[in-house]
Amino acid sequence: MTPPVYESSDAFVLGLDAQDPLRPFRDEFLHVASASGAPAVYLAGNSLGIQPRKARKYVQMEMEDWERLGVEGHVHGRHPWLPYHELLTDQVARVVGAQPLEVVVMNTLSVNLHLMMVSFYRPTRERFKILIEGGAFPSDQYAVASQARFHGYDPKEAIIRLEPREGEDTLRPEDILEAVERHGKEVALVMMGSVNYLTGQAFDLRAITRVAHAQGCKVGFDLAHGAGNLKLSLHDDGPDFAVWCSYKYLNGGPGSLGGVFVHERHARSPELPRFEGWWGHNKATRFEMGPTFDPLPGAEGWQLSNPPIFQLAALRASLELFDKATMEALRAKSEKLTGFMEFLLDRLPAGFVTITTPRDPKQRGAQLSLRFKGEPRRLLQRLSTAGIICDFREPDIIRAAPAPLYNTYLDVFRFVKALEAHALE
Ligand SMILES: *Cc1c(COP(=O)(O)O)cnc(C)c1O
Repeated sequence: MTPPVYESSDAFVLGLDAQDPLRPFRDEFLHVASASGAPAVYLAGNSLGIQPRKARKYVQMEMEDWERLGVEGHVHGRHPWLPYHELLTDQVARVVGAQPLEVVVMNTLSVNLHLMMVSFYRPTRERFKILIEGGAFPSDQYAVASQARFHGYDPKEAIIRLEPREGEDTLRPEDILEAVERHGKEVALVMMGSVNYLTGQAFDLRAITRVAHAQGCKVGFDLAHGAGNLKLSLHDDGPDFAVWCSYKYLNGGPGSLGGVFVHERHARSPELPRFEGWWGHNKATRFEMGPTFDPLPGAEGWQLSNPPIFQLAALRASLELFDKATMEALRAKSEKLTGFMEFLLDRLPAGFVTITTPRDPKQRGAQLSLRFKGEPRRLLQRLSTAGIICDFREPDIIRAAPAPLYNTYLDVFRFVKALEAHALE
């Protein structure tokens, strides 16, 4: 495929939007308003996605059934609550490239990460380490350190952190694989992000899985910034587990439910230790209320509690849109949107901004991380005045992530124009 040719002009931008086959999906969302009342340029979908139009209706429907039916809603609701989470299974499986048996929507990300490590971090005297990227999201770092401690190991010894080479911002793919090979025999679990939250770097899940499995390690991925962003193929890539949240690219709403992938090879492994709860129990006999746990096959067998229906309802509205749009088409647009942003940023006055995210589209998703010279807070103020919402991470990184479901090429153009005004000031 030849790389797209971009131009920096109003006519070119409007042309791109006019030809965008995903353009109608923008109207399926409610847009955050800027101070002027016009829709803001929202580039923070990697942090919290905006509200799908239908989310309120779907939540409202369950509110009404609760009002109308009380406890009977579990069975007689328009969408009965007992199997409600199953409405999301096929859709979320398509988002992450899994079989329906391999996924379930439940809990929240950090909770799920711990539950997965209960099953897949099984340290022994010879093999007790966890390998993780050095700049992993803090919650992931706390999770792996506390799991190591829980098993009686000192995190200083048990956690191997991969750091970029001196003077570099991101990990070289070959260095990751080399480190997995070098440490492999001592590593019980390789636990990486799929896209790093700060640098925007995407890792090669398949290559990491292959090398780690060859060394006898278990492999898990945190897809917080990957789900709904990258075209994933978890089943074929073959990690043992993955976890994600759904309030970022998946637009499930603040604090929305997370998801879990457990590879099919573990679907019927009652010998795997796990923390058990009644929602993971055989559906046919769950309400016999017997004392012995009989796990459901697949990821569902890791469920603990009956899930929050309103949160599932809101997420269902968004997953329907992903299903209609398809991850193939979303990813194709995403590469163009982000490529266009990169093209425009490269034309700003020299030295004003550095893109720390890899230049290779295969090594990133929607997000570009930008390092600014000078006072980033003043720049943020200016962006906010211009009706642009993106986020800032100490000490000097702005993250901008155009979401292909609802952002336009014009959004990207307006963002970079505002930066340019600041640079020329
Ligand atoms: C957003 C994010 C989290 C947040 O965890 P919650 O349990 O959903 O609060 C954790 N890990 C990563 C990598 C993230 O990007």
